[in-house]
Amino acid sequence: MDLYEHQGKELFRRYGIPVSEGRVATSPAEARAAAEKLGPPVVVKAQVLTGGRGKAGGIKLATDGPETAARAHDILGMDIRGHLVSKVLVEKASEIAREYYLSLTFDRSARKPLFMFTTEGGVDIEEVAATRPEALVRLHVDPFVGYQPWQGRRLVYAGGVEHPGEQRQIVSIAAKLYEAFVGCEAMLCEINPLIVTPDGEVRALDSKFTVDDNALFRHPELAELRDLAAADPLEAFAREKGVTYVKLDGEVGVLGNGAGLTMSTVDVVTFVGGRPANFCDLGGGGDAQGVVDALEVIARDAQVRSIFFNIFGGITRCDEVARGILQAVGQIDIPHPIVVRLDGTNAEEGRAILREAALPSLHTEATMLDGARRAVELAA
Ligand code: GDP
Ligand code: MN
Repeated sequence: MDLYEHQGKELFRRYGIPVSEGRVATSPAEARAAAEKLGPPVVVKAQVLTGGRGKAGGIKLATDGPETAARAHDILGMDIRGHLVSKVLVEKASEIAREYYLSLTFDRSARKPLFMFTTEGGVDIEEVAATRPEALVRLHVDPFVGYQPWQGRRLVYAGGVEHPGEQRQIVSIAAKLYEAFVGCEAMLCEINPLIVTPDGEVRALDSKFTVDDNALFRHPELAELRDLAAADPLEAFAREKGVTYVKLDGEVGVLGNGAGLTMSTVDVVTFVGGRPANFCDLGGGGDAQGVVDALEVIARDAQVRSIFFNIFGGITRCDEVARGILQAVGQIDIPHPIVVRLDGTNAEEGRAILREAALPSLHTEATMLDGARRAVELAA
């Protein structure tokens, strides 16, 4: 799970990593109030889960309250590479003498956390790695020994930081970053830029913080940070219903049972020239209510033109699925044709149930390939 900059910075603050003072705002008026509280000049920063906001125009300086409102007005509602901006962080502006880079990530091949540091921060780190690899210091930490202060010193010496005050601060930040990384069970903690102010103060000006989804159950306070509003509302609805739902870009709604069959169904729809609008996995042992929930989620996707329901009955019984389909069609308004392919346990019974219902919007096909073809035709 990726955290927003303001959330990552809140964690930095908790672990003692210096950050600028700031407030989150969702309207120009709130942004203006924040600026007046903090004392201008301020910087207005789009809160979206993607990098390169500066280049995209999502980060602007403002010298007073009204200008802050104007900049917030520009940035709120912006689309930054598919991410809609609904919040800004208003921060006391910093003066920047130098921009460094410090990160801690998990190096899977070495099975160790990896520090990376360079005094050439601010820009894309990939660019530094590609063009000036010698400027990028890499250092593994043995997870059983933990972070040792000499490692921080090695980072700053190898990185060429000459000023003793800066060295001391960066070593201290590296230690705290390691604590934050381990304490939150993070996958990535990145500070770019780590700035030096003209007074020689070192501070995290940005935060990229990714925590391990699989460890969230141990960190309820982090799990709470998941922003349902920022996610697709339909995805939030699906999560509420306990349905696995992934949004895609095409026209055919895909429903399968089990990850393997569902992914194959996506492939086959694509293979016959269609484009999946989404996919839903009913999982094993899906009952009628599960089918109703999944169909309700899919029917709400505005891009869907037809639905392909592909079930291989193992634990899941096809007659149960068929009853679920009829129940769903009776309960919810599904304006799209539904193509059903049932195979496996009780497939005959399932097909008979659908046949008897004789609904004009239901089409049964015997094979996955024929089902996909039919669904793609009906979506056209
Ligand atoms: P990113 O583009 O999404 O990585 O966002 P950052 O938070 O890294 O900001 C991008 C750039 O905006 C930084 O590298 C700075 O040059 C600039 N910037 C951000 N905050 C401030 C600030 O407080 N003062 C000044 N002068 N520049 C800032
Ligand atoms: Mn950045």
